[in-house]
Amino acid sequence: MDFRFRADETFAREQDQADELASFREHFCLPIAPSTGQPQHYFCGHSLGLQPKTVRQAVLAELDRWASLGVAGHFTPPHPWADYAADLLPLVAELVGAQPEEVAIANGLTVNLHLLMASFYRPTQQRFKIMLEARPFPSDRYAAASQAAFHGFNAQEAIVEIRPRPGEDLLRTEDMLEQLDREGDQVAVVLLAAVNYATGQFFDIAPIVELAHAKGCVVCVDAAHAIGNVPLALHDWNVDCAVWCHYKYVNAGPGAVAGFFVHARHARRFDLPRLVGWWGHRSDTRFLMPDTYELAPGAAGWQLSNLPILSMAALRASLDLFHQAKMARLRAKSLRLTEYALALLDGLNLQLLTPRAPALRGGQLSWRVPEPRRLANWLQSHGVIVDVREPDILRCAVAPLYNSFQDIWRLATAWRALTTERGES
Ligand SMILES: *Cc1c(COP(=O)(O)O)cnc(C)c1O
Repeated sequence: MDFRFRADETFAREQDQADELASFREHFCLPIAPSTGQPQHYFCGHSLGLQPKTVRQAVLAELDRWASLGVAGHFTPPHPWADYAADLLPLVAELVGAQPEEVAIANGLTVNLHLLMASFYRPTQQRFKIMLEARPFPSDRYAAASQAAFHGFNAQEAIVEIRPRPGEDLLRTEDMLEQLDREGDQVAVVLLAAVNYATGQFFDIAPIVELAHAKGCVVCVDAAHAIGNVPLALHDWNVDCAVWCHYKYVNAGPGAVAGFFVHARHARRFDLPRLVGWWGHRSDTRFLMPDTYELAPGAAGWQLSNLPILSMAALRASLDLFHQAKMARLRAKSLRLTEYALALLDGLNLQLLTPRAPALRGGQLSWRVPEPRRLANWLQSHGVIVDVREPDILRCAVAPLYNSFQDIWRLATAWRALTTERGES
């Protein structure tokens, strides 16, 4: 990307003035930094996205409906609770590149991962392994190991990680394909993050799915760090199933209700073993309360329980902003913000862990730094919020709905000031 910039603050202001998405920042509650008394320069959207101002109103509206309607709220417009997800599914589907019938909103990410594994991880003595990317998010690894153990396999043997080359942190697609080609005959499920939480690497999913299918494996994608960050095409990539949460880039609040995807190819595979609850029943006859169940087609057939409406209300408010802003425009701004950050920090001799190439990353930039905690504390004292993964990773993510070019300028200026103070530049 050819990004021309100047290093002065006026340039950042000009960029914000010219930014067609700049006004979305005003839709968010920006925490105030005690050190400066000013709004934080918040780069932790990969961990917990900020609160859209419309969330409060949306949650209060459901509290009021509960207070005034009681049980009738289940069937009273405008958003009857019994069918609350209906108009949210197209918005979520838009973010993950799916048909509305391929997605459901329910539970937490790890819960959904287990529910989908119950159907899609069907190990045999010959094929029982679960292949993950190197350094996966711990919960995914725990879930995978416990699934293997649940089926009576030795978790140590069953879990394989795709290793980077010696001395490297990132995975090369050709190496991923090569290892899959070599070991795939024993792999039941490839469980791959779309964007790795530590390195920020955005994997090239489509060729991996193609080869995995040729080798007889199922592919489950964890899109926790990808949804709302990079454009996804779960349907076209032919992914079998996927999970994600809504509290990172999607800004639906701490512990927000999560989402999952089941490809349309599996929509009517009622023969797949699964764990069933009444919310997975066909919705038209669900309330007749029959003794035996008839599953809903699509992702809905993996739902268990009725929906947490207060969390769904927050999600609704947040999804509306994405729908207005459009993922393609957000992605373009995200790349401009990160290119600007990299340009401003150039010359500090930093070790960027995240791939430099825009196609291989989203809005998260990770650096390998000595004493990351000290750096994060320094930045925090300048109102800049980043996070640390011990022992040596500093993570910093832009969320183009609320981050500005001036935020980036502050980040880079504070960071530069620290290295100048140490006499390192
Ligand atoms: C954030 C994240 C999780 C979190 O799991 P929860 O069940 O939502 O607590 C799991 N996996 C990945 C890859 C994540 O990034």
